[in-house]
Amino acid sequence: MYDFIIIGGGILGLSTAMQLAEDYPGHRIVVLDKENELAHHQSGHNSGVIHAGVYYAPGSLKARFCREGNRLTKAFCRQHDIAFEECGKMLVATNEREMERMRSLWERTAANGLEREWVSADELSEREPAITGMGAIFVPSSGIVDYRRVAQAMAEEFERRGGEIKLSTAVIGLEERIGEVVVKTSRGEFVGRYMIACAGLMADRLVKLLGKDPKFTICPFRGEYYRLPPERSDIVSHLIYPIPDPSMPFLGVHLTRMIDGSVTVGPNAVMALKREGYRKRDVSLRDMATMFSDPGILKVCSAYWRPGLTEMKNSFFKKGYLDDVRKYCPSLTLQDLGSYPAGVRAQAVSREGKLIDDFLFVNTRRTVNVCNAPSPAATSALPIGRYIVDKVKSQVEEA
Ligand SMILES: Cc1cc2nc3c(=O)[nH]c(=O)nc-3n(C[C@H](O)[C@H](O)[C@H](O)COP(=O)(O)OP(=O)(O)OC[C@H]3O[C@@H](n4cnc5c(N)ncnc54)[C@H](O)[C@@H]3O)c2cc1C
Repeated sequence: MYDFIIIGGGILGLSTAMQLAEDYPGHRIVVLDKENELAHHQSGHNSGVIHAGVYYAPGSLKARFCREGNRLTKAFCRQHDIAFEECGKMLVATNEREMERMRSLWERTAANGLEREWVSADELSEREPAITGMGAIFVPSSGIVDYRRVAQAMAEEFERRGGEIKLSTAVIGLEERIGEVVVKTSRGEFVGRYMIACAGLMADRLVKLLGKDPKFTICPFRGEYYRLPPERSDIVSHLIYPIPDPSMPFLGVHLTRMIDGSVTVGPNAVMALKREGYRKRDVSLRDMATMFSDPGILKVCSAYWRPGLTEMKNSFFKKGYLDDVRKYCPSLTLQDLGSYPAGVRAQAVSREGKLIDDFLFVNTRRTVNVCNAPSPAATSALPIGRYIVDKVKSQVEEA
């Protein structure tokens, strides 16, 4: 009998596992993942940005955890000798409408307590000669890291504290009983006193396995990237982001300096026809049936059909994708866009057709389920793990 069973060997499952093992020494804790390596899905396929907390609604969990996570991630990297860089982020406005949005974002960064700088068009071209815009906000605390390495270090710390990790172990059934939770897997049954699910793209399916109605469905959005050739890697010295449209859920295609020295362009946001489908041709009939019979996702399709079609067009025709980036980086050409692996975001959609914005958790007496943890959840992994451990502690005390 385990004390705690954690489903999901992504960065959230591992952060939770590491912190549980610290708070409960001598207890039996196991992490289960269906893949044969850790951080195989979102935690290993992302932009690698340590976000500062620019965009999020003041008072939201995202705003709180991102700011705290920015500081804690850097401290964790220092402690574990993981390369990171505090390169700062430039949010660039390219027209009057974006200047207007940039002013609101300026207010929001103040409300979120961030250090930032207002950058004029002239200063912008001095600091980033390849970038053009009417103005920018510079946020110095944004950084870059390889989250796969962070997740790996969390796993090592967890094992050092006595935790167990079982890979290639898919959870196929769950049963919450009076004093225990039974977890049925492809490699037999695990019984634990408490269970925590951090299953990313499968979050709603895990809640259903518990016999509960999740009241949301995961909609997968593929984020496709390109990589610039090595001779263009010094094109920018900061992260370059557009000013996002507040009515859209994602941040827009950006230029990201990666910790390995390369620069990526992306990601876009295309509705994926398979939850863990990284290629355009990946299709799952089961996933499509779930999506297109879901009233919430159908409402999202009808509300966002126009930008959705543009994203699809730009996914198939590089030229459209390039035009988006050339608004602020005009010297890029089609030849500069080399291939790079895509990622798939897990975005929870409510029955009412809302893309759920904040982090979302659903708890039962003996389980905590992470249900919506899109970006900046990698940045926020340490505070989210702490939040989950505190929730589990209160369940232990109540039992
Ligand atoms: C394209 C893209 C760019 C992003 N950029 C950033 C960024 O720059 N900065 C940032 O902070 N965040 C970013 N994010 C968000 C961030 O990567 C995710 O929020 C974070 O990795 C979520 O971690 P997780 O552990 O919840 O999920 P995951 O890493 O997806 O882990 C879930 C795990 O659960 C396992 N699992 C699922 N079902 C089962 C089952 N039945 N049995 C056993 N195991 C199961 C899966 O195999 C998987 O390993 C980005 C995400 C994407 C996709």
